[in-house]
Amino acid sequence: MASSDRSTLDATTCCIVPSIANVSTNQSAGVTCPRCGVRGKRVDTQTIKAMLALSLAVIRPVEYRFCRTVQCPIVYFSNDGCQTVTERDLRERVYQKHPDDDAVFVCYCFRHTLGAIRAELRVSGVSTTVECINASIVAGQCACAIRNPQGNCCLGNVAAAVKRLAEEMKQAQVEMESLTIGQEERDDQST
Ligand SMILES: [Zn+2]
Repeated sequence: MASSDRSTLDATTCCIVPSIANVSTNQSAGVTCPRCGVRGKRVDTQTIKAMLALSLAVIRPVEYRFCRTVQCPIVYFSNDGCQTVTERDLRERVYQKHPDDDAVFVCYCFRHTLGAIRAELRVSGVSTTVECINASIVAGQCACAIRNPQGNCCLGNVAAAVKRLAEEMKQAQVEMESLTIGQEERDDQST
């Protein structure tokens, strides 16, 4: 639906009468994303307030949820089915929607990107990102609820990203070595 690509976090487009039929026939209505159907995690209104690049007058006293599906354009939706928010209405790009983009933050409080983690792995073979974040958390410097679009701590995402990037680089290294060996064998045969 092209029309729903427009921001629907707008009082004028909000439905006035929620569809009772939908609610009664769908047990998961309100907790699943209206676009992709995957269950969304509840986020505090504080997170929505911090993330919106719109007037906060659009915020209503309802529950909002976060959709982490990569291919789904919806980032937040209200549990009454009236409002959806896409990335274009936000002040941050959302890691879950761009898990392979080196420029997107994976840690929003301390501004670690996949690119920075990848560079560190390339230089030293290990990443200190998780340790850095932990030290900053202990120092009371994090603000996940208002910095991270998912509304809570990024550590799980960061640890998974470090592991994934390390495995990708290891795999690339193995492929490079087997190519080099193959080339050397061909060179030997040709001499
Ligand atoms: Zn979705």
